[in-house]
Amino acid sequence: MSRETTLDKIVSLAKRRGFVFPGSEIYGGFAGTYDWGPLGVELRRNVVDTWLRAMKCHDNIAQLDSSIFTAPRVWEASGHVSGFNDPLVVCLSCHSKLRADHLLEAVGVVADEKMSEEELNRLFDGAREKVHCPVCSKQKFGRVVQKNLMATSTLGKFSDEDEEVYLRAETAQGIFINYKNVLDSGFYSIPFGIAQVGKAFRNEISPRQFLFRKREFEQMEMQYFVSPVEAPHAYEEWRKERFAYYDLLGITQEKLQWKRHENLVFYAKDAWDIQYEYPFGWSELEGVHYRGDYDLSQHQKFSGVDMSYLDPDTKDRYIPHVIETSVGVDRTVLMVLCESYSEDEMNGEKRVVLRLHPRMAPVKAAVFPLLKNKPDLVSKAREVYAMLKKSEPRVMWDDNGNIGKRYRRQDEIGTPVCITIDFQTLEDGSVTVRSRDTGEQIRVASSELPKLIGS
Ligand code: ATP
Repeated sequence: MSRETTLDKIVSLAKRRGFVFPGSEIYGGFAGTYDWGPLGVELRRNVVDTWLRAMKCHDNIAQLDSSIFTAPRVWEASGHVSGFNDPLVVCLSCHSKLRADHLLEAVGVVADEKMSEEELNRLFDGAREKVHCPVCSKQKFGRVVQKNLMATSTLGKFSDEDEEVYLRAETAQGIFINYKNVLDSGFYSIPFGIAQVGKAFRNEISPRQFLFRKREFEQMEMQYFVSPVEAPHAYEEWRKERFAYYDLLGITQEKLQWKRHENLVFYAKDAWDIQYEYPFGWSELEGVHYRGDYDLSQHQKFSGVDMSYLDPDTKDRYIPHVIETSVGVDRTVLMVLCESYSEDEMNGEKRVVLRLHPRMAPVKAAVFPLLKNKPDLVSKAREVYAMLKKSEPRVMWDDNGNIGKRYRRQDEIGTPVCITIDFQTLEDGSVTVRSRDTGEQIRVASSELPKLIGS
C-alpha cells in the first residue's frame, strides 16, 4: 500500500464511520478545522484520559484549566507577539501560500528559526533553482515574509484604539502565569508539575495532512518546575518516561524516534522531539524541552510579580527551571489511526480493520441478536446489552444486516469483541464472543462478559 493512499484511506474511513468530519463541510469546508464525530469524541477522550492518568500517577503533578483568552501582555512576555512567526512564500503561478522553510527543507536546506526576513530571502534566493511548488510544480515564487501565527479576536473591542486580543497559541503560558497560584495553594513544593489539556489556535500558513496541522487543535502539556541543580537529571527522567509512555497506546517503538533540535532558541537549554513515522514521513508528535528559567523570568519581568522560590531546607532562593512535555491530541489520534489501520483477508473476504489497542477503542464491545426478527433473541440480547452498559457505557447495539456485515462494520471501527446472542443463549445463558483480530469465536457465560471487556 503506498504511503499517500494510506492517509487517504484513513481520512475516508474517519469520515465514513463518524470519527472526524471536515469543518464547516456543508459550506465547502474551512481550512485547518475538523469536527469530531461520535466515535472520534470517544477516541479523543481515550487519548486524553490515558495521558492524564499517566500524569496523575505522579503525586506531584497538579492539574489546571486556564482560560483561552488572556491579557495580551502574556503573549508579549512570552515572545509570541514579536517572534512566533513562520516564513510565508506565495507561488506566483497557482497562488498557493506555502511555508518557505518546508520548501527549503525538501531540497536539503535548513532555515534557522532565528533568521531575519532578509537572511531567509538570501537563503531562498540561493535555492530557487531547486525549489518547486508542491501544488503546481512551477518555480516562480514571491518574496519570503515572516507571518505571525497568533490568531486574534475582537473580544472587548469597543473602540478602534483597543488592543488586539489573542487566542492562546499554546496552553503552556496559562500554566506559567498560574505557577505561583498553584504553589501558594499549599499542596505542592518544588519539584512539581502542572498538567493541562486544552485548545490552542495558530494561523498555520498551510494547514495540511489531516489532523496533523490544524488551525484549532488541542494540546496536552505538562510543565515541570524544578531547581536548576536537579533540572538536568529530571529532564533525562522525563525524556525516558515520555518515550516509554506510547506503549500504553499500542504504538510500536520502532515507529517512534528522538530528534534533537539543531537550532535551539536562545533560552532553551536542550530540546528533543519525539517523532512518529506518519504515512507522510517522520514528523513531530511531542516536544520534550528543557526551557531553563526563561518563561518564569519573562513573566516576572513583565508582570512585576516575584516568581522566585525559597527552598525551605537550603534557604536558597531561585527562579525554578522548567521542563516541558507537550503533545497534540490531534497528532496522537492521527498516529493511533495510522498505527492501527490495516487491510487483510478473513474467511476469504477482504476487510478493513482498525487494530486499536483496547484502551483506545471507542467501542469496547458490540452486542448483536443473531436474528432481528426473533423476539426471544432480541429481548435476551437487550438484557445482556443493558447489563453491560451499566458497567461500561461504551458498548454498542447493532442488529442491522447479517452477522458478517456487522462484524465488518465493527472491525472498521476497531471494536475488540463482538458478542452474539443466539439460540443456545436462551438455553444456557452462554454467548458467542468473536475476536476482531483473529476472528476466533468462543462461548462464554454472559456473567463473565463485564470482566472480559475490562469493565
Ligand atoms: P511544528 O514544528 O510541527 O509546527 P511545533 O514545534 O510548532 O510543531 P509546539 O509548539 O512544540 O509545535 O507544540 C507542541 C505540540 O502541539 C506539537 O508537538 C504537536 O503535537 C502539537 N501541535 C502544534 N501545532 C499543531 C497544529 N497546527 N495542529 C495540530 N497539532 C499541533
